[in-house]
Amino acid sequence: MNLKRNLERAAREFESAGVPEPDLDAWYLLEYVTGVSRAAYFADPDRELTGAQQTAFDACVEKRAARIPLQHITGTQEFMGLSFRVNAHVLIPRQDTEILVEEALKLLKGGAASADGREDQAVELLDLCTGSGCILLSVLYYAGRNAHMNLSGTGSDLSEPALETARDNAERLGIRARFVHSDLFENLPGRYAMILSNPPYIRSAAIRNLQPEVRLYDPGMALDGDADGLAFYRRITAESGRHLEQNGILMFEIGCDQAAEVTELMRVHGFTDITVKKDLAGLDRVVYGRYSK
Ligand code: GLN
Repeated sequence: MNLKRNLERAAREFESAGVPEPDLDAWYLLEYVTGVSRAAYFADPDRELTGAQQTAFDACVEKRAARIPLQHITGTQEFMGLSFRVNAHVLIPRQDTEILVEEALKLLKGGAASADGREDQAVELLDLCTGSGCILLSVLYYAGRNAHMNLSGTGSDLSEPALETARDNAERLGIRARFVHSDLFENLPGRYAMILSNPPYIRSAAIRNLQPEVRLYDPGMALDGDADGLAFYRRITAESGRHLEQNGILMFEIGCDQAAEVTELMRVHGFTDITVKKDLAGLDRVVYGRYSK
């Protein structure tokens, strides 16, 4: 079968399977299997796939029509312009989470995370529930391009296979970071200038309403924030004071209806200058504050 007919057939199958963006996913998979870019496609849409390509493409189409996420088929997701390996053990990096990284980078650049407000101070970062490592690694990657910044980073997760994925990503991207197996702060005795986290925050009962790609294929332990979705914010906020330097910053990704509750938790636990940031859709997405004992 030629490129054009494959593309059309895949898009039709995806559409009837309820895939959210059937045409786009058909394109991605066709390019993934054949290496044919859009430009090359339009130059010669009648080109036949080789036998091996056809077999591989059919297998990909079958998987995607079964609502297996595109990223689990290709094994990668781009985040902050970097390519991350992903698999069933890690939450697929979301574009919304780039807001968290951007806010962290702004604060680091301004020197806000170091005790004396200078951006050339040694800064220790911690990313709790690191998953693929996408948050920590992209902060280290972009902040690390400022030669005078002196950053080091630790990512932790309860999942060993997630940590292996994060280590693999660090190695592929050529970024130095430490990854520690830990239930939140359990195995992390040190203090940090900045703690970042995109913890599980979906209400347990709401998980069944999520689209199949998320509900069935993102790890449940990366989504489930217990009955009210706030369990991890409670634990992390309560314990962060013992793990932050004076004036250190705690920064969370949040669900769009959690800003008021997370702000209040942080206030109660001694955080000041609490700030809420919105994502590109105009929804509350990030909360951060400063710990000053
Ligand atoms: N933002 C993710 C989603 O919408 C949830 C990630 C999380 O719980 N931290 O599925």
